[in-house]
Amino acid sequence: MENKYVYFFGEGKRDMKALLGGKGANLSEMTNIGIPVPPGFTISTQVCDVYYKNNKTYPEEVKKEVDENLKKLEEKMGKTFGGEDPLLVSVRSGAAISMPGMMDTVLNLGLNDNSVQGLINKTGNKRFVMDSYRRFLNMFGDVVLGVKHSSFENALQNIKDQKGVQQDTELDENDLEKVVEKYKLIIKEETGKDFPQDPKDQLWKAIDAVFSSWNNDRAITYRRLNEITGLIGTAVNVQAMVFGNMGDTSGTGVAFTRNPATGENKLYGEYLMNAQGEDVVAGIRTPKTISDLETQNPEIYAQFKEVMEKLENHYRDMQDVEFTIQEGTLYFLQTRTGKRTAKAAVKIAVDMVDEKLINEEEAVMRIDPKQLDQLLHKQLDEVAKNDADEIAKGLPASPGGAVGIAVFSAEEAREKTQQGEKVILVRKETSPEDIEGMDAAQGILTSTGGMTSHAAVVARGMGKCCIAGCSDISVDEKTKQFTTKTGVLIKEGDFITLDGNTGQVFKDKIRVVDPELSEDFEKLMRWADNIRKLGVRTNADTPQDSEMARKFGAEGIGLCRTEHMFFDEERIKAVREMILSESKEGREKALQKIRPMQEGDFYSLFKVMNGLPVTIRLLDPPLHEFLPKEEKDIEELSKEMNVEKKRLQDLISELHEFNPMLGHRGCRLAITYPEIALMQTQAIIGAALKSRKDGIDSKPEIMVPLIGEIKEFEYLHKLIKETADKMILESGQELIYKIGTMIEIPRACLTADEIAKDAEFFSFGTNDLTQMTYGYSRDDAGRFIKDYKEKGILEKDPFETVDQKGVGKLIKMTCDLGRKTRPDIKIGICGEQGGEPESIDFCHRTGLTYVSCSPYRVPIARLAAAQAEIRNRQ
Ligand code: PEP
Ligand code: MG
Repeated sequence: MENKYVYFFGEGKRDMKALLGGKGANLSEMTNIGIPVPPGFTISTQVCDVYYKNNKTYPEEVKKEVDENLKKLEEKMGKTFGGEDPLLVSVRSGAAISMPGMMDTVLNLGLNDNSVQGLINKTGNKRFVMDSYRRFLNMFGDVVLGVKHSSFENALQNIKDQKGVQQDTELDENDLEKVVEKYKLIIKEETGKDFPQDPKDQLWKAIDAVFSSWNNDRAITYRRLNEITGLIGTAVNVQAMVFGNMGDTSGTGVAFTRNPATGENKLYGEYLMNAQGEDVVAGIRTPKTISDLETQNPEIYAQFKEVMEKLENHYRDMQDVEFTIQEGTLYFLQTRTGKRTAKAAVKIAVDMVDEKLINEEEAVMRIDPKQLDQLLHKQLDEVAKNDADEIAKGLPASPGGAVGIAVFSAEEAREKTQQGEKVILVRKETSPEDIEGMDAAQGILTSTGGMTSHAAVVARGMGKCCIAGCSDISVDEKTKQFTTKTGVLIKEGDFITLDGNTGQVFKDKIRVVDPELSEDFEKLMRWADNIRKLGVRTNADTPQDSEMARKFGAEGIGLCRTEHMFFDEERIKAVREMILSESKEGREKALQKIRPMQEGDFYSLFKVMNGLPVTIRLLDPPLHEFLPKEEKDIEELSKEMNVEKKRLQDLISELHEFNPMLGHRGCRLAITYPEIALMQTQAIIGAALKSRKDGIDSKPEIMVPLIGEIKEFEYLHKLIKETADKMILESGQELIYKIGTMIEIPRACLTADEIAKDAEFFSFGTNDLTQMTYGYSRDDAGRFIKDYKEKGILEKDPFETVDQKGVGKLIKMTCDLGRKTRPDIKIGICGEQGGEPESIDFCHRTGLTYVSCSPYRVPIARLAAAQAEIRNRQ
C-alpha cells in the first residue's frame, strides 16, 4: 500500500495514536462521532521520524499531501489561506503519549498585513483582528524565530503602562495596532529579517518548529522523568482556528468530565471569556470556574454538558477537553484521558464500576500501581495544623502535605535537594523549564494560575503536593522572598508547610502523619486480591514496620534482616565484642548477651504477624559494617572487653577487606563462626515456642544467605535443624518451621536442583544476584548507570527493575531446577525489584509463589500482581 502521511480529521480512529498522536487520533474520533470539532488534518508521527532521518527535510509526497489537505480545508471552511476572507489555522504538536506543554504550538497562523485587512472587513471587529495578529506575531516570533518571549512581554507592558491599564482586555483596537507594529519591529531587530508574510512559508516554518520541539531539552527531560520510550516522534495537527477572543460572547476553557483532584463526579474546569487558550493554561488571568458558565450562558452550558457526557460514555473514562466558544457557538478542540491524582483515580475507577460503565477488572487495570504511592504517603497532622500559623491560602491543586525550605528557582530546588535539603518551590507561575526543579521539590506553591495551570497539571501528574493561584502572596523571584497579604515575610531558606488538600500555606514545619485509606481504596484492593495469583509479603525488621505492612495487606514477612536489630546503642557493643573476641568462648559470651534481645525482637514480629509466615535471615553483612571507627568507641570497647586498645586496633585492621561485598559475609560468617547461627536459631525457635505458649500462631522460616555451594547449605542446614529440633523436643510443644535459602549467587542458580534437596524454600535476593550477574557493585553502580541510561546502553536500572534477559534467565533456570527436585518448593523474591510493577509481572509469568517488598510498596505489589494476572491471561 502506498504510504499515507497526512490524515484529514475523520480519516483516523482513536486507536491510531502511534501514527496520529493522541490529539490527532482523538480529533478524528470526535469528528466521527459528531462532536463539533473545527476541521483540520494531522501530519503523522512517521513524518517526524522521516524528518529527522532526512536531515530535517520532507519527502515530496509529504508536501503534496499537505497541499491537498490544505485545499480541502479551504473548501470546507469556504475561506482561502492568506486571502481576503482568510483561513487561519493552529499548528499543534501531539505525540502518542501526552506531554503537556513540553512541545510547541502556534495559533492564528495565516495572518499577514493583507489578510488582516480582509478579516477586519469580514468581521467588522478590528480589535479582535489586531488582538489575534499580535498574539500570532508573539507566538510565531517566540516559537519559530527564537525571539525572546520577554521582549514581547515588555513591549506590551509598556503600552499598558502608557495607557495606565492592568489587563490586556482593557486595550482597544488602536492600542493593539501599536502593539502589532512594535512586535514587527522587535522581530526585525532581533532576527535581522522581516516577519514572513507568505502564509505557506509561515505554515512550513511552524511545522518545522513543532517537529523540532520533539527534541528540545524540556521534552527530552519530560520523557526521561516519565520513562516514555519507544515513540518515533510527534504528529502535527493543523486545524482551522475558532476564536475565543471575538468579544464577550466568545471564550475558551479547559475542563474535565470529573474532578481530577478528588475524583468527584461533577464537571470541573475553568474558562475565560474573550480570550485564547494560552491565557487559561499560562495562568496570566485567573479564570472562572465552569459552574459560572451555567449562570452566564445556560444554553451553551447545557450543550457543553451534553457533549461532555457523550465523550465520557464513548471513551468510558474521565476526559480532559479544550473548548472554545466563538460568538455563542461551542467547539471542542481536543479530548484526552485526563491525568488525575491517585485519590481521584481510585474514586473514579470504583465509581465507574458502580455506574456499570466498566467492570472490576477494568477498574483494576485503570490505576497505575506506582501512582498509589501518593495515597500511602504522609499527610499533615490535623491536630498540629490547628496550632500552626496559617499565612496564606490558595487553590488546592494537588493533594498531600509538604514541608520544606522555600526556594525560588528550579535550579535551586535541584541543587538544595542534592545537598540533602527538603525544599518547596515557590514561583509566580511555573513553566515547562521548571520541570526538573518541580520533580526535586517536596511541593510547589504558585501565586498565579488556576487549577489547570501548568504547575497544577504537572504536579498532579507527578503526584506532588501543589498549591496554585495563591494570590495572598506576592513573590519576588529576584530577591528570593515572598510576602503575604498580612505582611509575613518568607525568605529563601525559611521553612514553610503546604496542605495540598485545602490550599493552606503555613509558616514553619508541621508534623506529618500516616494517611487514612479510603473505603474506595480498600474495595479496589479487594478486587485486586481476588484476581491475583502471586502472594505479597513484606521486608520488615521491626514490629512497627510489620504492623504498617499488615495494614497495607502483607501476607507475611518475606525478609527480616536480623542485622538491622544490631545497631541499637546497647546491642552494638555486644556485637562488636562478639566480632572482636579472639576465642570461641569470648564470642559465645557476647552472643549470650545478644540472644535475649533477638528473641524479644522475634517474639514481637511473630505477635504482629500472628498466623502468617515470618522469614528470618541469618546474619548477612560484612563484619566491618559493625566495627567501631571512632577513637572513643574503640577506647570504650577495650575497657569493656578488657583488651588493650592497641590490640583492638590491630584486630580491626586485620578484619579489613578489599572487597567486602564479595568477602566474609553471608553464610560464610556462620561457617567460620557457627556459634552465630546457633544463637540466632535458638533465638528464633525460642521466640516461636514462647509465642506459641502465649497463643500466638508463629510460623518461622529460617533463611540462609549467600549460598553458592551446596555443602555450605548442608553444613548450616544440619546445624540449624539439630538445634531447632532439640529445642522443640525439649519443650514438648509442636512447632512447624522451615529452613530455606536465598538465591543471590549465579552458582546457586546453576546448582538449584542440588540445593532444593534440603531447602524448603528459595528467595531471590536480586540485589546481590544482579550485582553478581552484571558484575556491577550495587553500592557504586549509580555513578555509571545514569550514563548508561542516557547513552541507551541500559534502558532501565537493573537494581530497580529485574533484568529479564540475563538475571531473569537465571531466575527461570533456578525455578525449573528447584522444582525438578522439590515440586512444591516455595519461591519468592525479596530484592528491591520485588516491589516494582514490571518486575512483578515477570515474577508472575515465571510462576513465583510470592514477592516481598517494603511496607509502603505492599499495595503497589498487590495491584501490580492483579494486573499481571489480567494482562497475561490467554
Ligand atoms: C538481596 O541481595 O537482594 C537481598 C534482599 O539482601 P540484601 O539486600 O540484604 O543483601
Ligand atoms: Mg543480599
